[in-house]
Amino acid sequence: MNRLIKLSISLVVLLFNNLAFAGDSSNQGFDNITLKTTHVRGNIYMLEGVGGFAGGNIGVSAGTDGVLLVDDQMSPMSEKINAAIQDINAGQLRFILNTHWHGDHTGGNEHFSKQATIISHANVRHRMMTDQENFFGKSPARPKEAWPIITFNDAVNIHFNDEDIQFIHYANGHTDGDGVIYFPKSNVAHLGDHFFNGVFPFVDLTTGGNAFKLTENIKTIIDSLPEDALIIPGHGELSDIPGLKTYYKMLTTSTSLVKNMAAKGKTLEEIQQAGLPEEWASWGGGFINEANWIQSIYHSLPK
Ligand SMILES: [Zn+2]
Ligand SMILES: [Zn+2]
Repeated sequence: MNRLIKLSISLVVLLFNNLAFAGDSSNQGFDNITLKTTHVRGNIYMLEGVGGFAGGNIGVSAGTDGVLLVDDQMSPMSEKINAAIQDINAGQLRFILNTHWHGDHTGGNEHFSKQATIISHANVRHRMMTDQENFFGKSPARPKEAWPIITFNDAVNIHFNDEDIQFIHYANGHTDGDGVIYFPKSNVAHLGDHFFNGVFPFVDLTTGGNAFKLTENIKTIIDSLPEDALIIPGHGELSDIPGLKTYYKMLTTSTSLVKNMAAKGKTLEEIQQAGLPEEWASWGGGFINEANWIQSIYHSLPK
């Protein structure tokens, strides 16, 4: 199955899981999903679901201090995550960093909070404490065990496994609480859902996301990282700076096209009809097809 079709199915499953997130912890649909572990570089590993939608990619820092996770996928994946971590390093799980509030990145929080301290931007905690609604439907408030217990506003450093890990807020890109994580010694970054590798991104307009701000944030992130950094995306395959630059080119092309056409008085339907350059046609193979992507850009324009 090609990657785009896989992601398409994934996002449809995400839709139903978000809708059914209220206390439904059945493992239905997750039994056949396995986790693939990739050694990225240095202390850092990536865990991704294979055979179905497990949630967003997990970053793992494993070393002499123990284990730190970036995100923890959908809740039924917790035992498989535990097993995958054990295979990398039998040390203690100490910290979980949540890149944003979505259930496909924080679903394991209830499970893992018994052993680890959860850290996030303040808006992530706030959104998990209250009912949310977005394009995918309603997400009821999460139980207290899922809430991050350490929050920050701009940035926080975690000194762990010989790295001065940077966890930095990038406002109003995918949501209003996204944090990007950089491991300087291993020279690896985890971009959460600021980066959908190879497909159009989902921008959560109802919880503070904006396509233009997302584009600006990606530029800032590219400028802040070394040329040889490796990049874990929220969804899709492991990437690097050239990969991120291609994504940025797609973002700038699409956002400026929609902005210019809207300035000429074109309606959303007319812009969708005109479409994006052929170069990006394959990026619409996911659940966020070209029309949805153009719509999220259009609704990101200043009112
Ligand atoms: Zn996601
Ligand atoms: Zn997300």
